[in-house]
Amino acid sequence: MLPWHKAAWNRVARAEQLPHALLITGPPGIGKRPFAERLARRLVCEQGTACDACRACRLAASGHHPDVLTLRVPEGKAEIPVDEARAVNEFLTLKPHLASRRVVLIVDADCLNRSASNALLKTLEEPPPESYLLLVSDAPARLLPTIRSRCQNLVLPRPAQGEGLSYLKAHQVPDPELVLALAHGAPLRALTWPKDAPALAQRLLASLEAVAVGRGSALEATEAWHAVDLEVGLSFLTEVASVLTQLMVTGTIARGWHGTQEGRLRALAAKLDLTQVLGVWDEALSARGLAAAPLDRRLVWDRLFMHVEPRG
Ligand SMILES: [Zn+2]
Repeated sequence: MLPWHKAAWNRVARAEQLPHALLITGPPGIGKRPFAERLARRLVCEQGTACDACRACRLAASGHHPDVLTLRVPEGKAEIPVDEARAVNEFLTLKPHLASRRVVLIVDADCLNRSASNALLKTLEEPPPESYLLLVSDAPARLLPTIRSRCQNLVLPRPAQGEGLSYLKAHQVPDPELVLALAHGAPLRALTWPKDAPALAQRLLASLEAVAVGRGSALEATEAWHAVDLEVGLSFLTEVASVLTQLMVTGTIARGWHGTQEGRLRALAAKLDLTQVLGVWDEALSARGLAAAPLDRRLVWDRLFMHVEPRG
């Protein structure tokens, strides 16, 4: 178990009775899904503990337990369609095969489309006996309010700085302080990044500096960035924009940014105004999740860097 989940796990494990519908939320990259998977194992475990040793736990861990159904966005699609939700309803009305209950885990529950959400409502309203629904979401505000109101909410926290750092060190992530800062304190997010993430972050700062002081144009910076994984690049840029905003508004800097990086960020903040930084931030947020063809990637980067070009 991830160490920062312990308190929440103990709360759930102590509960007499789990709610029939639990909505597990919290920032991306903190391990909501492994937490939910463990909870699903606990519900079907022969010992009732998620022992990880019994047949039920092993079947569930391999995704083959007949009483556990996992729903996620199908490959190549952007949402969970209605027929998947109908399959959930049907699954929960059947008698369990091995365990004494049936469990459905819905990953990225905010991707349920409207008809799928509506199809689930009845089951959430009157859950069949011994049925459990675990919904996982980074963005619970995007769920239908009627879905949210029928679930009990469990918010998982970000790890404390020390826990996050130990986790990254245990996974041999280089420059863990900088990486954790870039990942906004969510260590699991950083594990999906390329090994050269710290170097990429330094390069991004260098590009922003060059454009901001007029040493290079947005177009030149784009040349250096269009080939970088857009999701990773935008993630870094969003974080840098948020640190710059914090610096401009409060004069303080987020944890994790220190030493030479802090000096560079302070110098950069002095070169830019808030409108420019918020422009980058907005642009980066709206560009995330774009299915980016190479040409679009160039446009995205070009627009981003144009925000920091000197005015006038
Ligand atoms: Zn077990």
